[in-house]
Amino acid sequence: MLKNNKFCIQCGRPLTKQLDSEKSLVSYCQTCQTFQYDPFNVAVSMILLNPTRDKLLLVKQYGLDHFRLVAGYVNKGENATECIHRELYEELKLDALEIRYNDTAYFEPTNTLMINYIVTLSSELVESNDEIDEAMWMSFENANKLIKPQSLAELFLRKFLMEKQHGN
Ligand SMILES: [Zn+2]
Repeated sequence: MLKNNKFCIQCGRPLTKQLDSEKSLVSYCQTCQTFQYDPFNVAVSMILLNPTRDKLLLVKQYGLDHFRLVAGYVNKGENATECIHRELYEELKLDALEIRYNDTAYFEPTNTLMINYIVTLSSELVESNDEIDEAMWMSFENANKLIKPQSLAELFLRKFLMEKQHGN
């Protein structure tokens, strides 16, 4: 966990503690009169489907051996949908046709709230940039076998496949 902020991110003065509207003791700047909650990162990850929704795209990155989901950090000022469109274009030159929420989880090691979406793409044609070692279309069954074990990606994928099985 991150330590509480000691100084105001706006004016740099020392922070005090004050009860917020939910009666939690939170860092507070007397000068700016603002509460300052602990910072954390937000990232999106994506289950990418082809236009006919019968194949799934997994990638290998950073010289690692396992397949994973395409993911990226949300920039300050950006919403999650904008982040999805930007990441898809930057990394794979792909466009999203439909974006649906799937699941979310907090990833403690990097202090990141991961939000997972099911994204249907307009094309299967992938032009990956140098952040991607390999991008591969595969059946749902193979994706289930090849996704990195014990990862958040696996958790998100299993939830998607389970709901698919139940006809949602
Ligand atoms: Zn301040």
